[in-house]
Amino acid sequence: MARAKQPKPIHQLTAAQFEKLFPDEPACCAYLVARRWPDGVRCPRCGNPDLYDASSYKSFHWQCRACGPDGYRFSLIAGTIFENTNKPLRDWYRVIHLMLVSKKGMSALQLYRYMGFGSYKTAWLMCHKVRIALMEDIDKLGGIVEVDETFVGGLAKNRHWDKRGGGGGTGGIGSGKTPIVGAVSRKGNVVARVVANVQAKTLEAFVREAVAHKVSLLCTDQWTGYKHLTDYPHATIDHAMGQYVIGAIHTQTIEGFWSIFKRGVVGTFHKMSRKYMPLYAEFQFRYNNRENADIFGTAIKGC
Ligand SMILES: [Zn+2]
Repeated sequence: MARAKQPKPIHQLTAAQFEKLFPDEPACCAYLVARRWPDGVRCPRCGNPDLYDASSYKSFHWQCRACGPDGYRFSLIAGTIFENTNKPLRDWYRVIHLMLVSKKGMSALQLYRYMGFGSYKTAWLMCHKVRIALMEDIDKLGGIVEVDETFVGGLAKNRHWDKRGGGGGTGGIGSGKTPIVGAVSRKGNVVARVVANVQAKTLEAFVREAVAHKVSLLCTDQWTGYKHLTDYPHATIDHAMGQYVIGAIHTQTIEGFWSIFKRGVVGTFHKMSRKYMPLYAEFQFRYNNRENADIFGTAIKGC
């Protein structure tokens, strides 16, 4: 089968650009302030812009005149994922940069070794927080939309017997693998989510949440889970009949996304935990920002 057309390369900072942009901690702090408050610093508690600049006491600190009896004092990292850590922003930025430039993903173990952190847990926690920051709110998809489901996870034979299911590790329903459903607007965004199963009720609920009713075409395969979507302009491709592309009807864009995702999952993360799967949202973020000239700044803004 012909590979789906690959998205354009992401505009990313090179290592040299990173060093130039972030030579030291104050540069990282100024960058965060600019991204977080493009229209001037506001109190993270009440949104008030009337602040006392406390930088003579401590740099990048302010005091809100409206909050509390004595004013609320806060720093630039108050209310961000960078709060309550002893890691400098420059370390965080390096971690985020590595996660964004790694098309197949960056595991906590790789980061732990590369960054030379004292503990694996530190690296894991940082990864975890960054992934949460990268989760985006996406408008309902429009235009021509493809929906498809896939399964990821280790071989069933390596799992505990009660989690194996009946599929013998070959993938698909009953194999004990984790099902993921995704929708992609051609030339647009992707939305992917871990689901409990691929029954019609589950898949339909996902489609109704992720896909606008006014789409010009909704393409899926012939799986019965999609057959009740009669209120959408729905067309199917029958892979079992050897069909892959009929004019505009195909699911190759979403299959292209699955292929990037799975190479990342197999090559980088080795084992998938169902519990942490939603946090692999970084794949979705990278895909949806593939033409964003400021992907790093967008990521920092979400932190
Ligand atoms: Zn306030």
